[in-house]
Amino acid sequence: TELIRFDQVSYRYPGGQDVLGDVSFSIAQGEMVYVTGPSGAGKSTLLRLIAALCRAQRGQIVVMGQNLSVLKPRRVPAFRQHIGLVFQNFNLLADRTVFDNVALPLVVRGYAYADIARRTRAALDALGLLRYEKSLPLTLSGGEQQRVGIARAIVTKPALILADEPTGNLDPKMAMDVMRGFARFNEAGVTVMIATHAIDLIEAVPKRIIHLERGHISDRLPTAASRLGE
Ligand code: ADP
Ligand code: ADP
Repeated sequence: TELIRFDQVSYRYPGGQDVLGDVSFSIAQGEMVYVTGPSGAGKSTLLRLIAALCRAQRGQIVVMGQNLSVLKPRRVPAFRQHIGLVFQNFNLLADRTVFDNVALPLVVRGYAYADIARRTRAALDALGLLRYEKSLPLTLSGGEQQRVGIARAIVTKPALILADEPTGNLDPKMAMDVMRGFARFNEAGVTVMIATHAIDLIEAVPKRIIHLERGHISDRLPTAASRLGE
């Protein structure tokens, strides 16, 4: 079944020009897709539209059966509960432990404490973070903080994971581990979309590619040259 559908979607930031123009594609449940393209191509904007962080001026977006053009603002939080967001700025709470940061989405959903503890530790374990559960985020390296953000995004077992440059702050080995981690979630049935310019990681974990150039989907696949264009 179809999980995401874009029909001739255009988007512009207030006062600007179109940063996405006539974008159409469809993603089936259970797919893993890379969104590639040079800086400024519209990758982040595409993910933000799917998460209903912004709203297209033209075209139609349907995500998990929900037509986003008619999604009422007060329904957005409930819609977003099914999406795990991994964004570049990790948005971790500085005065809460790693455990509390990762547990937060479960607390918000009203899970029982025993469930929260079990699921949170499972997510921390999956990202190799168990030993940091009592640490404060700012005492960790950038890469470790990034993994805390990923653990928080997957702790609720969302149907869809959207990740914007999730390996941008990681050393090559950690980046590979994180990408393989996404592939494992995907094998477990989660639909995954990752905006990235990490061609070497894409080659190591090959999946479908949606390539953007200046706000349009392009058939041209990313090359080392487009990476050098960064
Ligand atoms: P990418 O993720 O591929 O680097 P973005 O989606 O971040 O691309 O940006 C696409 C275009 O939209 C760029 O030209 C960028 O400068 C512009 N843009 C991004 N965010 C904003 C914003 N908040 N206001 C105005 N323009 C923006
Ligand atoms: P990314 O490529 O992942 O979007 P950027 O460094 O381009 O990262 O953007 C960082 C932040 O600045 C994002 O929140 C983006 O929306 C915003 N931004 C990017 N370009 C512009 C712009 N031209 N005007 C205003 N805000 C922008």
